[in-house]
Amino acid sequence: MSQAGKKKMIVVAGGGPAGLRAAEVAAESGAAVVLLEGKRYVGRKLLVAGKSGLNLTNDEAFESFVAKYSGPADRWRKLIGEFSNNDLRKWAAGLGFETFVSSGGKVFPQPMKAAPLLRAWIKRLRDLEVDLRFNSRVVRIDERLVHLLNGDSIPFDALILAFGGASWPSTGSDGSWADLLAPHQVALTPFEPANCGWEVDWPESMIPDIEGKPLKNIVGSTPWHSCPGEITLTKYGIEGGPIYHLGPDLRKMEDPVITLDLKPTLSLDEVESRMSAVKKNYVREAKRRLKLCDAATALLKKLPQLGPWSNGGSIAGAIKALPIPLKGPRPIAEAISTAGGVAWSELDDSLMVSRLPGVFVAGEMIDWEAPTGGYLLQGCFATGERAAKGAIKFTESRTSITN
Ligand SMILES: Cc1cc2nc3c(=O)[nH]c(=O)nc-3n(C[C@H](O)[C@H](O)[C@H](O)COP(=O)(O)OP(=O)(O)OC[C@H]3O[C@@H](n4cnc5c(N)ncnc54)[C@H](O)[C@@H]3O)c2cc1C
Repeated sequence: MSQAGKKKMIVVAGGGPAGLRAAEVAAESGAAVVLLEGKRYVGRKLLVAGKSGLNLTNDEAFESFVAKYSGPADRWRKLIGEFSNNDLRKWAAGLGFETFVSSGGKVFPQPMKAAPLLRAWIKRLRDLEVDLRFNSRVVRIDERLVHLLNGDSIPFDALILAFGGASWPSTGSDGSWADLLAPHQVALTPFEPANCGWEVDWPESMIPDIEGKPLKNIVGSTPWHSCPGEITLTKYGIEGGPIYHLGPDLRKMEDPVITLDLKPTLSLDEVESRMSAVKKNYVREAKRRLKLCDAATALLKKLPQLGPWSNGGSIAGAIKALPIPLKGPRPIAEAISTAGGVAWSELDDSLMVSRLPGVFVAGEMIDWEAPTGGYLLQGCFATGERAAKGAIKFTESRTSITN
């Protein structure tokens, strides 16, 4: 409360997980909170994320957890230190959703879908008297006023922007907020698709043999990193964990190439020795002797840069290191998340935009990326938490607009 006993007004713009968490923390501190959401309801991307299982966070140890985030490591150490994977699990339990750890440390609520959790979260926000305003699209920001598309203007003591990234625009996160910050000269890093499929110029004749087929238990590599997992071959290219994880490397390569180890459980020597006696039908023999799947054999048989095989050693080399040249990432609208956004250099430790005192940012609209596995939502919660605490502190040091 202000000296005059009136509540400080914290406006949160954007009703994704970052904005909802910011609103919750701000309301718990006793501030009057208005949450503005451009769409008819909040959390549309969260609902998409939780359609087949909401991977809330990851059960990974702290240091390797924070290493998953791009951007300044010291900042992520503080952000995740302040609101950790365990804090997120406790938060979910507090809403009535116990969590469990699945493969790869992925943490899911019970039940796994997002809709019941979102409903409970909204109820909590209403209990905290957060004023939820839907169909309230922000079109302009002044020093202490937010202007909406419908002509309304809302005064604030502090403003938290949580407009999301630029993928899945149908959910409301369309990246158009970049125009909203442009008049304020806030530096933005261009958006790029992250955690997305990549396109490959497959020969036409190969598509019926590979489309929709998985390559299980492979390892994908770039010159800098390797990632085990499963990828799916599609009509247009490749989808799946390893290619998502290697995206930051691939984006910085002039001619991006992912190299696949189709038999990571065997060394090159072992593969060579199993293939050394083969004198013909190299692909068929490789399939039989190494138990290769159909998709792997289709690649060995039909990729134009490979073969014809003349000895067991050469096909062994390709099985252990099969280069797939990539045309480029799939369109940003399809990506699970985006890299780019508000540059870290624009933000102080409390995630306040230095050139816009009292305006904070949270979630995917900040320039960071992280792999799938629960790190994205954790990053959104942690930045929402920080921005709200920053906003509360800021309002405590100022005279309220309501005075
Ligand atoms: C298919 C898919 C699956 C995913 N699965 C997972 C997963 O399992 N685990 C995980 O960690 N992450 C997952 N993610 C990523 C995760 O959903 C996002 O990282 C997260 O939702 C981003 O949260 P946010 O609050 O920053 O923004 P968003 O959730 O994008 O919310 C931003 C909100 O701001 C609103 N908005 C935008 N502009 C305006 C404006 N001008 N005025 C008012 N409101 C505005 C939008 O309508 C939207 O509601 C998935 C994403 C996708 C697409």
